[in-house]
Parts: sequence; structure tokens; C-alpha cells
Amino acid sequence: MSGRLSVVGLGPGPAAWMTPEASERIAEASDVVGYAPYVARLGLRGDQRTHASDNREELARARFALALAEDGANVAVVSGGDPGVFAMAAAVFEAAEERAAWRAVDISVAPGVSAMQAAAARLGAPLGHDFCAISLSDNLKPWAAVERRLRAAAEGDFVIALYNPASKARPSRIGEAFALLAAMKAHATPVAFARAVGRADERLTLTTLGEADVAIVDMATLVIVGSSETRMIAREGAPPWMLTPRSYGGSR
Ligand code: SAH
Repeated sequence: MSGRLSVVGLGPGPAAWMTPEASERIAEASDVVGYAPYVARLGLRGDQRTHASDNREELARARFALALAEDGANVAVVSGGDPGVFAMAAAVFEAAEERAAWRAVDISVAPGVSAMQAAAARLGAPLGHDFCAISLSDNLKPWAAVERRLRAAAEGDFVIALYNPASKARPSRIGEAFALLAAMKAHATPVAFARAVGRADERLTLTTLGEADVAIVDMATLVIVGSSETRMIAREGAPPWMLTPRSYGGSR
């Protein structure tokens, strides 16, 4: 008899940003599958089997989890943030598409707080009006597709949340992305680098498209590039708030 598979969002880091449903799914699981550092953080019981893996092999991990569920296990596949945002949910459904036995598995998704929401909460309200999310990782798509989407996002004047902005293998991508955006958008456009939001080493940097130092951007950073409406609200003795107002066209 086939078991269950839950794709579980752990949120960006702190336990307080994890939903009660996500905690329940993990507590109920006989087997927990995921990226090793996430699995290590969960404080699992001795009777729960863990299957930690590295971060790259998402589809292989999804197939492995479905095979466990097919054999009757109650599997939790864990993902940082929201599992539907550049994470394991898509890999699980892509794998399930491959085999009738896997499509028969009871699959559900427990949502989580995504990095862009956590970053936005720290910064003020930068995602208050139309925005989009783009992953700068070109592991799974050509860089030309990233460039096309960046141009379209700039053309559409969306606030842009950039995930996977840099890595050791691709340190120059964020610089290339900023050069492309700076050619299309005002240099005074507000930019935020929100690093390790919710964790002990959290760091928020507010700058502009023209002055941004992309050398400080690493893989733990979520980047928010404002629209033409996004502005900073200065405060005495505290960093400014970043706001994209809900009314469009300068009405205040
Ligand atoms: N599913 C995740 C995203 C996975 S992609 C989510 O919904 O948040 C990994 C990228 O997410 C990182 O490169 C970084 O850009 C962003 N990210 C994840 N956790 C973060 C955190 N605590 N602070 C800032 N950015 C984070």
C-alpha cells in the first residue's frame, strides 16, 4: 500500500517562521528527506529515518522520496522557505509525472514563508505593489532566459526579487544582472540586499542601483530591486524603511 509524501516548507530559518502544519508533517513523518543542513536543524526523534543529501540533485531526491512513499512510508521532503518557490515541490511533481505508481501517492504541500516575504517584512513594505521573483541560477535554465526576464521585468516596472543571486561557481552573475538593470532603470532606484534573514548573521544593506556594491552579495542573500515608485523613508537614528506604495502614479 502506498504511503504519503508531504513537501514541507521550513521558512527562512527561525522556528517562529515555520507554520504549525509544517511542524506536524515533520512530527508525523517516518522518513525525512532533504538538504543536509536543513535536516540537521530539525531535531528529529531517534525513530525517524533521515535521508540527507546535497543541494544539487533535486530530481533524484524527489524520485527517492516517491519510491519510499510508494513502499508505504510517510515521507516529509523538507525545503527552506516555501517549497513551491525555486525548491522541492516542482521536483516532486515533475518526478511524479514519470510513473503511474507515483501519481497514485498521496502528495501534499505545506507552504512556508519565502525569503522575499521575510526580507520584505524586515525592510518595510518593498513588495507592496506588483512584483516578480527571478532566480539568477543558470544551473537549470540558460543565462539568456534570465536576461530576457530581467529586461521584461524592468520594462514592466516590476519590483524584482532576485533569488540565488551569486555562488562560487557564478560570482559574476549578479554584476551582469545589475549592469543590465542599470541600463534600463534610474540609478537612484532603491535596492536592498537582505542576507540570512531571521538568522544570527542577518545583515540588511540598503543602497541604490547606481551605487550598489554587488561584491557583498552571496548565496544567502535575497536582493530586492525597486520599481520607479519604490522609495526610502528616512528615520532618525534608524535605517530607512523601503516602501512601494499601493497607489500607482505618485499619488500620496
Ligand atoms: N524556497 C526558498 C528559496 C530557495 S532558493 C524560499 O522560498 O525562500 C535559495 C535562495 O533563497 C538563496 O540563494 C537566497 O537568495 C534565498 N534565501 C533563502 N533563505 C534566505 C534567508 N534566510 N535570507 C535571505 N535569502 C534567503
